[in-house]
Amino acid sequence: MRSFILPAAIILVIGSGCQSAPAETPARKQLALAAASSIPAATAGITAVDPAKPVNAAAVMARKQVPILCYHQVRDWRPTDSKTARDYIIPIEAFKAQMKMLADSGYHTILPDQLYNYLTTGAALPEKPIMLTFDDTDLPQYTIAKPEMEKYGFRGVFFIMTVSLDRPKYMSKAQVKDLSDAGHCIGSHTWDHHNVKQYKGNDWVTQIEKPTKTLEAITGKPVRYFAYPFGLWSHEVIAPIRERGFIAAFQLSTKRDEAEPMFTIRRIIVPGWAPRALDTRIKTSFKG
Ligand SMILES: [Zn+2]
Repeated sequence: MRSFILPAAIILVIGSGCQSAPAETPARKQLALAAASSIPAATAGITAVDPAKPVNAAAVMARKQVPILCYHQVRDWRPTDSKTARDYIIPIEAFKAQMKMLADSGYHTILPDQLYNYLTTGAALPEKPIMLTFDDTDLPQYTIAKPEMEKYGFRGVFFIMTVSLDRPKYMSKAQVKDLSDAGHCIGSHTWDHHNVKQYKGNDWVTQIEKPTKTLEAITGKPVRYFAYPFGLWSHEVIAPIRERGFIAAFQLSTKRDEAEPMFTIRRIIVPGWAPRALDTRIKTSFKG
């Protein structure tokens, strides 16, 4: 067994944790054979990121942005859900229709390592690239969104709030591990969703350092991508986030920091838009 364990360990050390090309162990090979049709060809053989290489901010800013969608709750609306709350809740059939539209329209999901390599080095992406991200650890992201995405060979990014793990209505640790094993990317969304701009002293340990360790212990992979709670960030929080091992961070839709575009990557919140409306937003929202 030793000869199989060693390469996997090396991959863990150098990989950034969100490459979907799995380590080649016999068990992995069998899994890959069984699920060959569901592994997106476009994400096989992704080059590992090189976080040590300096990032040229101006070059990143000059590259066309990849549309990145941000989902929260995937469930049907209840009469008690306010109009504002509904912006963060996509009804199940609407989500399914959106995934079908993306597949029928030829979109290919990409993972953060691909985005990182594209933005920092100009590495090629598949045609019509798109990224699907999910915040806040809600259980239906696993029970509803995961199988629906996998139907089309799509893979997503799940930004986990570690305080919620194993709580009712949220994902369990085992489910997060399963997402990671299935080729989805696990990122950090802090411990309990406090605004990063307000962190002092030990908050950095509680909200940033410990959640990373928890998620790395669950997945067995490095956690290098972060999503700001509420999308809130400031120029000042970027250095302490980078110092803690992250190589990119995702906000919502405010203007990017021109000096730190890798830490202010934009996303668009997707409510229950009809498929055609989503397609229009994808084409118009990531120009600036
Ligand atoms: Zn959130």
